[in-house]
Amino acid sequence: MKRILITGGAGFIGSHLCSFLYEKGFDIICIDNLITGTKDNIAHILEEKNFEFIQHDVTKYIDIGGKLDYVLHFASPSSPIDYAKFPIQTLKVGSIGTHNALGVAKAKEAKFLLASTSEVYGDPTVHPQPESYWGNVNNIGPRGVYDESKRFAEAITMAYHNTHGLDVKIARIFNTYGPKMRKSDGRAIPTFIEQAINNKPLTVFGDGSQTRSFCYISDMIGGLYKLMNSDMNSPVNIGNPDELTIIGLTEKIIKLTGSKSKIEFKKLPVDDPRTRRPDISLAIKKLGWRATVGLEDGLKKSIEGFKGNEGR
Ligand code: UDP
Repeated sequence: MKRILITGGAGFIGSHLCSFLYEKGFDIICIDNLITGTKDNIAHILEEKNFEFIQHDVTKYIDIGGKLDYVLHFASPSSPIDYAKFPIQTLKVGSIGTHNALGVAKAKEAKFLLASTSEVYGDPTVHPQPESYWGNVNNIGPRGVYDESKRFAEAITMAYHNTHGLDVKIARIFNTYGPKMRKSDGRAIPTFIEQAINNKPLTVFGDGSQTRSFCYISDMIGGLYKLMNSDMNSPVNIGNPDELTIIGLTEKIIKLTGSKSKIEFKKLPVDDPRTRRPDISLAIKKLGWRATVGLEDGLKKSIEGFKGNEGR
């Protein structure tokens, strides 16, 4: 039986990965310090024989007995309001936490997958963003703590590959949504759904002309699984290239919820990227993967999840 360590396994993407890999028959050790994750996300497998939860901060030494086949490093605050609230923890988990997770992978001769982000491209001047683009990041701006911690994480991951021959994979994860996102994490989709369901105004930052490209969680997990099993060692974008404006997103959510909500315009956060869309040519070519769930279908499933109180 393959044994996997997932850091950040009680978070949004981490917990979906735990469920998916558990169903596939993997033996799972999930580590999370629960500053943004919650045990509720893994409650359905918490007591299972092949699943172990350890509450631990990965910026402290990680002590795991026995063999490991994979280390999947997903621990990090990832929503703008979370990394604004935990700036130093964000920098530490991307740097010291990634170093510790790499150390475990090296000691166990395990494969390593880093959850990186489209934020490494910052406010991009190249559109759509291919992996070869170096990015446009304000290192001392409010998003710099996350962007630079992930850029450092990529750098040290490549250094472990080049120096120690570690078999590494780097997923540049673009905006992802679905059930189990926290209603209060401040991101566009859970915020708008929660506001629309309650007929409250939808808070659009700026004039809403900024764009994003949203990937449904099941597509993301499928892409990550293909990357995990691939022989790629350089970064790969995983995301849905279907791009729309934030105003366009509010219109869809209002329609799908049958809401009476209006729009309330608020100040655009500093350094909020103007555009974002993944170039997924590499994922198509090397992983044979592309997203298949359309935005309306994914939003419908997310709205159901939120009504059923799955989003917290
Ligand atoms: N946004 C918004 N209203 C909200 C939350 C987010 O207009 O209540 C905008 C935000 O300014 C950004 C986009 O929606 O342009 C996506 O934001 P999110 O926090 O979901 O992710 P990001 O891609 O910025 O990390």
